[in-house]
Amino acid sequence: IVRETPAEPAPKTPRPNVTLTHPDRVYWPEQGITKEGLADYYTQVWRRVAPFVVNRPLALLRCPDGIDGQKFFQKHAWKGLNRNIRLVEDPKDPGDPLIAIEDLDGLIGLVQSAALEIHPWGATLEDWERPDMITMDLDPGEGVPWQRVIDGALELRQRLQSAGLAAFVKTSGGKGLHVVSPLKPHAAWPEVKAFTKAMAEAMAADAPDHYVATISKAKRKGKILIDYLRNQRGATAVAAYCPRARPGAAVSTPLEWDELSPEIGPDHFTLDNLPTRLAALRRDPWEGYLAAAAPLKPGK
Ligand code: ATP
Ligand code: MN
Ligand code: MN
Repeated sequence: IVRETPAEPAPKTPRPNVTLTHPDRVYWPEQGITKEGLADYYTQVWRRVAPFVVNRPLALLRCPDGIDGQKFFQKHAWKGLNRNIRLVEDPKDPGDPLIAIEDLDGLIGLVQSAALEIHPWGATLEDWERPDMITMDLDPGEGVPWQRVIDGALELRQRLQSAGLAAFVKTSGGKGLHVVSPLKPHAAWPEVKAFTKAMAEAMAADAPDHYVATISKAKRKGKILIDYLRNQRGATAVAAYCPRARPGAAVSTPLEWDELSPEIGPDHFTLDNLPTRLAALRRDPWEGYLAAAAPLKPGK
């Protein structure tokens, strides 16, 4: 009797090897999402989330008692850090280590440490001074219709493309959208910041009724803040595929440009419904992201 060889199992996501204490601890009470539930989610999306969280300095929003308890925004390592999390030294600020991970165990270590939100730098540990991504953060003020935020993202895409950069869009999981450009790490932080500042200011100058480029709440009513300050040394933005420690368990979700619509708001995709979306996708919404990295050209 010739036995058929069993079908090759589908390419498996790696299995984390991290002990979760109190796996049933509830992080998002409304959805009943637990520590273990968050670890399972990250294990499922590991392949997608890895480029955005691995080998970068990370700031963390830690919520040991879930989203309704105390929250700590931590940029530095602390005592008793999970052993899968790496301490890394900022060459410009030695002596007070920052946090990084290098694999899925590290990510699950962050879950074990109640890091409900992960906010990476836009630079990797390989090159702290030269960012490998730009994040333009659209922050709509009160009363701004969602279509206007979409229009702002499309305009940013246009401007970034005119400067020779690719542009990708994600929901923030909060109130806005993030437009992201992958960079070849050539230009240093000050140059990248100046580039994004000039872009935000140009948008505000061209359409002052729609956009502002400076953080001043009074001026923001009915307008969209083009928050370019994610693009300076030490600044962070929530990572793609990471959830928010807010009611609803929304996830900062990469979208195709043509998915942008009034039906998909900033908190549309959540820990509950994102896995279904991902399983049904025919292609990665950010396909070609890494290959699209381009250098910031001087003078653009
Ligand atoms: P939203 O769409 O609601 O604006 P967001 O993630 O873009 O969501 P912002 O308020 O615009 O939120 O903040 C931008 C970024 O600033 C955050 O993603 C985070 O990386 C960083 N940040 C958030 N909280 C803090 C904090 N307490 N201290 C320092 N930086 C923070
Ligand atoms: Mn924002
Ligand atoms: Mn902002």
